[in-house]
Amino acid sequence: MTALSADLLSREGVQIRRMYANVFLLSSPQGRVIVDSGALPYAPAYARLLRQFRPDAVLVTHAHVDHAGGAFVAARSGLPVLAHPLEHAQLTGQRHELPYPAGNPQLGAIISRLHPKVPAHALTAVDAGQDVLGWEVLHLPGHSHGQIGLLRNGVLIAADAVLSAPDGRGGMRAALPHAPYNADHAQALQTIKHIADMDLRLILPGHGGPLTPEQVRERAERPT
Ligand SMILES: [Zn+2]
Ligand SMILES: [Zn+2]
Repeated sequence: MTALSADLLSREGVQIRRMYANVFLLSSPQGRVIVDSGALPYAPAYARLLRQFRPDAVLVTHAHVDHAGGAFVAARSGLPVLAHPLEHAQLTGQRHELPYPAGNPQLGAIISRLHPKVPAHALTAVDAGQDVLGWEVLHLPGHSHGQIGLLRNGVLIAADAVLSAPDGRGGMRAALPHAPYNADHAQALQTIKHIADMDLRLILPGHGGPLTPEQVRERAERPT
């Protein structure tokens, strides 16, 4: 991470923990929220994090197991789990759809079934335009239908709408998940274009380090 982005994150009250996928700790004058809950093997570490950070709520960007693996821990500790309504059926286990591993939906469903779920009463629906403790909810569909991000002062938590990947020259570039990992790849392309058109200072992907608006624009300009 560059000194510039580290400085911006600390000024905006954002901390990042890697629990396979990124987990974001957000502090604003309105309160504290943790975004995403890591993969299941990190559940004990996630439970410690909840005790230490004491958030007012946990927001799950989308139901994939690398982001929602510890959501049951948050629910058990009595925290509201915020997610887009289109992700609820997978979070509660009413539906088991997982695009991992690519091209093998049967195995994906088995992996999903092996994960502890969130009881429906613990879930709170949030949608685009809503305020969550000082952050604005954005709908970022494509990677999954109900994927959401959070925006505040030009800092966007983008979930898997954009990833950070090695550029082959020792730096990083913005990337999209490969088409088999997206529920609707054409929509994912639209969403990254939308992000590229926004007036942002820093983009925080679901995997990898922070990205600049220029890095995201470079990827958004590619047609596929
Ligand atoms: Zn995902
Ligand atoms: Zn992910």
